[in-house]
Amino acid sequence: MSTDEPSVPIVCDECETETRVPLDDLADALEKHNAEKHGGDSVAEVDPAIKDRLADLVAEDLGLFDEEATERP
Ligand SMILES: [Zn+2]
Repeated sequence: MSTDEPSVPIVCDECETETRVPLDDLADALEKHNAEKHGGDSVAEVDPAIKDRLADLVAEDLGLFDEEATERP
């Protein structure tokens, strides 16, 4: 079982919605939702329950926390 694109739940307290988006679209999706629904306020956010895991995923996938490690198969 392998997923090329891990999806990440975005939760919005005000809209009471949870949306899964591909990791690649996460920043855009958050920004777009908050811009369109909340006038730019940061209301929607990544599900706090998986934020820690996401940090690992992002670190591995994008190398955000270790900029030297940008090896790709
Ligand atoms: Zn919202």
